[in-house]
Parts: sequence; C-alpha cells; structure tokens
Amino acid sequence: MLSRFVEVRIDLDRVRHNAMEIGARTKVDVLAVVKADAYGLGAMHVVNALREIVAGYCVFSLDEARSLELKRIGGKRNIAIGPPAVDANAQDYIAAGVSPAVSTAADAQRLAGARPILCVDTGMQRFACPPHQVGAVLFAGAIDEAFTHATRLEQVKAFGELMAGKANRLHAAGSSLLSEPEAWLDAVRPGLAIYSGAMRVTTRLQEVRRSTGPIGYTGWESPGGYHGVIPAGYSNGLRPGPVRINGRTQQITEIGMQSAYVTVEASDHAGDEVELLSEELVAEEVAAASHTSVHQVMVRMAGLGVRRWVNG
Ligand SMILES: *Cc1c(COP(=O)(O)O)cnc(C)c1O
Repeated sequence: MLSRFVEVRIDLDRVRHNAMEIGARTKVDVLAVVKADAYGLGAMHVVNALREIVAGYCVFSLDEARSLELKRIGGKRNIAIGPPAVDANAQDYIAAGVSPAVSTAADAQRLAGARPILCVDTGMQRFACPPHQVGAVLFAGAIDEAFTHATRLEQVKAFGELMAGKANRLHAAGSSLLSEPEAWLDAVRPGLAIYSGAMRVTTRLQEVRRSTGPIGYTGWESPGGYHGVIPAGYSNGLRPGPVRINGRTQQITEIGMQSAYVTVEASDHAGDEVELLSEELVAEEVAAASHTSVHQVMVRMAGLGVRRWVNG
C-alpha cells in the first residue's frame, strides 16, 4: 500500500542515458530487462522511453508481454525469460510479440513456432537447461539463440565453450557483468544498470518536536533532544535505515503502521524535504544499511509512494 505523502520521481532521461551508455560501451545489442514493472519504475514508461535505443525487451512472463503490448513495437527481439506458460502455445507468444525462453525439449517443440530461445543453466539452478540436454532442446525447437543467467565470468566461459558452433546468437551478461568485456558476447541484458540513479524518493517532515523522554513504542532516545515524524510506515514498505534531511544523513529510528520517527536537528522544520533515495543517498547505501540487495531496495522504494515520470 503506497503512501500518498511519498513522491517517487522517475527520470526517463536518465533511463535513456544509462541504456545509451551501455550500448556505446559494449557495442552489442542491449536487451532491456523490464520485468516486474521495470523494477517498479513503470515498465510501460520505460519501454516507450527506450524504443529508439534498445534491440529488445526482457519480461518475465507472457502475461507481462501482453500487458505491455510489446507487439505494437516492431523490429524488436523480445524475450519472456521466465518459465513458459503451461497453457500457452506458439501463437499466443507470437500474438504478444515475445519469444519464450525454453529449457526442455517438450517446451521447445511445443513453442517452436515462436522462435524460442534456449536458457542454459550455468549455476543458477532454476528454470534452465542442464548442459547435457542442450543438444536435444536445440534440435526440438530448431533454436539458434541461447542465453544463460550468469553472475560470474567462469559461467560465461563455460557457456561459450558449451555452445560453440551450436547457436548464432549468445548472451549472458546482466548488470553485474557489464564491466567484463568477455561477458558481452552478442548482447547484454541489463536491468539494474538501466535504472541506476533514475529514481528519487522523497517525503516531508510532518512534525519536528523537542523530545520529552523515551519516544514511541520502543522508547528510543533522541541523541540531539529533537525528533521528527514522517508520513510513511511499514504498511507502505518503509524499513529502518538512513534518510537525508537538509543535506545531512539522519536515521529512521522506529517505524509504525503509516508513520515513522526520524532523527533531526533543532534547525529542521515541519515541511522540510526528507530524501529516502536520491543522488546523495543511493540504493547501494540503503541496501547495505538494511542488509538487502540493491534490486530489493529499488522495488521496495518504487512501491512506497505516488510515482511521477519526468522527461518522458
Ligand atoms: C533479471 C534478469 C536480468 C537482469 O539482471 P540485473 O542484475 O538487474 O541487470 C538479466 N537476465 C535475466 C535472465 C534475468 O532474470
């Protein structure tokens, strides 16, 4: 449930800039990963913003491809990277403008008409084809393109050796391997790297008070003698961690259902902006403080408030 007192500002120019930079640096096709509503940034907006820049889009499922109407954008190589829908046929994929990723001979055969792409397991150990079955799946679906979901260079090398001479187009790298030229192969599939820095999440101080003793449910003590209240809580997805107020790092100290306490200084006022994610408070820092991944922080932050897209 979002807080309407939190603003999630998504800069589509930054998304475009990130994707262009990746394309210019790698000089291979960029397949933008827009699964999970583009990590919360709004897949429809992202798809439209990247139209002239990327070679295709990666969604997770056939349903996502349908809801994004990927079919309307011609000339792209779109992939549903999750397991194929059990009740769908090749025509369903063609109608949605997306090709399925397959990892079994049965799925490859069933979906052969939709230009399936082989997904090879090099360590992820989920919905991907074990190396010894690669030949059978390629044959069953008349497949000429394959990918692996790799996070380490050894996986890419193993994939390259396994697939040598067996497919025309290979790809492996998501964001974590963009700094490794040997991982780029024929295309890259970045998600996070395209969204980096594109989202700014803010709210405002609802109250600033001089503390009169132990505060809140937990009885926390304010170090400076003042505390603030912000209008977002755990029902909105807020977690303890850093925020920025008037250029300083402060902390969320205790979270309630729809409000939370933050540390402040005496010079802060009700109405002052509180940054939950910004150029100065980046997702990596929030993730480290809350012991989660950057991906998880992005999705969580995007869901906190009302999204607004700029520079579309
Ligand atoms: C999610 C995903 C990606 C993108 O990962 P990032 O780390 O966000 O770049 C690439 N490939 C596959 C198969 C994925 O599932």
